[in-house]
Amino acid sequence: MSELFVDGEWTGAVGGARRDVINPYDASVVQQVDEADEADVDLAVAAARRAFDRGDWSSAPTRERADVLLRVSRFLLRDQEEIAHVESLDTGKTLKEARIDVEDVSNAFRYFAEIADKDGGRVVDVGPDVLSRVTYHPIGVCALIAPWNYPMLQASWKVAPALAAGNTFVLKPSETTPLSTIHMVRLIAEAGAPPGVANLLLGPGSTVGAAMSAHEDVDLVSFTGGLATGRRIMEACAPGVKNLALELGGKNPNLVFADCDFDAALDYALDAAFLHSGQVCSAGSRLIVQDEVHDRFVERLAARARTIRLGSGLDPATESGPLSSAEHRAKVESYLEIAQAEGARLVCGGTRPDDPDLSRGFFLLPTIYADCDRSMRIVQEEVFGPVVTVERFRTEEEAVELANDTRYGLAGGVWTGDASRAQRVAARLRHGTVWINDFHPYLPQAEWGGFGRSGIGRELGPTGLREYQEAKHIYQNLRPGPSGWFKG
Ligand code: NAD
Repeated sequence: MSELFVDGEWTGAVGGARRDVINPYDASVVQQVDEADEADVDLAVAAARRAFDRGDWSSAPTRERADVLLRVSRFLLRDQEEIAHVESLDTGKTLKEARIDVEDVSNAFRYFAEIADKDGGRVVDVGPDVLSRVTYHPIGVCALIAPWNYPMLQASWKVAPALAAGNTFVLKPSETTPLSTIHMVRLIAEAGAPPGVANLLLGPGSTVGAAMSAHEDVDLVSFTGGLATGRRIMEACAPGVKNLALELGGKNPNLVFADCDFDAALDYALDAAFLHSGQVCSAGSRLIVQDEVHDRFVERLAARARTIRLGSGLDPATESGPLSSAEHRAKVESYLEIAQAEGARLVCGGTRPDDPDLSRGFFLLPTIYADCDRSMRIVQEEVFGPVVTVERFRTEEEAVELANDTRYGLAGGVWTGDASRAQRVAARLRHGTVWINDFHPYLPQAEWGGFGRSGIGRELGPTGLREYQEAKHIYQNLRPGPSGWFKG
């Protein structure tokens, strides 16, 4: 079985390399997959270029492309259990969450199929002698690079609009979690995308991802991942002045006002911080609580966090899985040392679990630090693990100031029973998504992305399609005659 998909064929890597995919629950090998290098990038980009220039996809009636997307959407639901199973093995997330991910991916394909032919451009009215039209066109060959935390979901937010707009692509999932994405590409082929339209490469970012971003024949790079990698990709795109979309990290405030529904806020604060072991770009990892309820809130949060059941994602009793890899857990643990050194007060967690059943996996206990302040690295930097910091505030003004004191700006939550305060605060938060009395929902119809260093551009919503289109202005003079500008 080969796992690279180039020019409509499943193939091995030119260099013949293979890589073990590891189950983070017990460090066992789930399966081996092909591992590409720069030579495979050249082949895949050339295939995508040929397919784009051939025009059977890029110039096809929009409805035909939309039909392919709708089929993918249906096939995803048909294969939901199988995909959820590999996603759970690969990432450690619970089956429950993996099933929801598959539904969300199916919804993303359906959404972009539905809007693909809804905006045929516009006419600019400049009077009876001119026909001025703005039309939208595919950009060309897209390099799509995705992270490991929501492997298929993050890839689909790029793949579905890229296809809907008529582009061709080379997709690279994270080297550590490629399995669900392989399945998604199979479904795109089964749904009838012509050869070369969808290409899949597996392999490391430092070689395959870097070569994709720098490749002369790539017209657009869309990347989801960490800030440091995003900077490197920006540099790689600069010489070719490529179109670029970046979905980067977050350090997301969750503001709890004393007048909120306490139990609901508590429940969601737990989800916000510890869903998927905190390995969520929009995790509410920075809890900011009003003085009056602060102590009771932290105490109750810790009591709940201590009862979170860690285990295998495949076990229905498990509430949270392991971290994604040994290296990633080591990075998160380095932040625990930083927090201690900075004087944050450890309320719960802070170590690996002592349950022998979990000793082979990359687990870490849900961890809460109180008495934090915004000067601390643990408050400012993305930890991407089951670690939440707690700060306190007195006034609304102070809450907004704290929540905006971050170089990121991906998402934030506001908990209050005062509807006008909720809207006032939401309007002032410099974050791409603001949840009021909720945390984490996203909709295919609504734009997703970050202010500040959380990225450039938006996924989902109508803007998520625009990212994959060039606008063209066609101006026709209906009564041509001499301009008379030059007299000679
Ligand atoms: P990462 O930056 O390490 O890797 C992301 C992808 O980039 C992987 O496929 C990797 O192989 C590739 N890559 C690495 N170096 C590269 C290079 N030099 N050139 C090209 N590609 C390269 O990120 P990660 O650890 O996989 O994911 C976690 C990060 O992703 C977190 O910071 C998280 O916040 C972010 N994220 C953001 C969103 C969002 O919507 N904004 C969603 C999910 C994850």
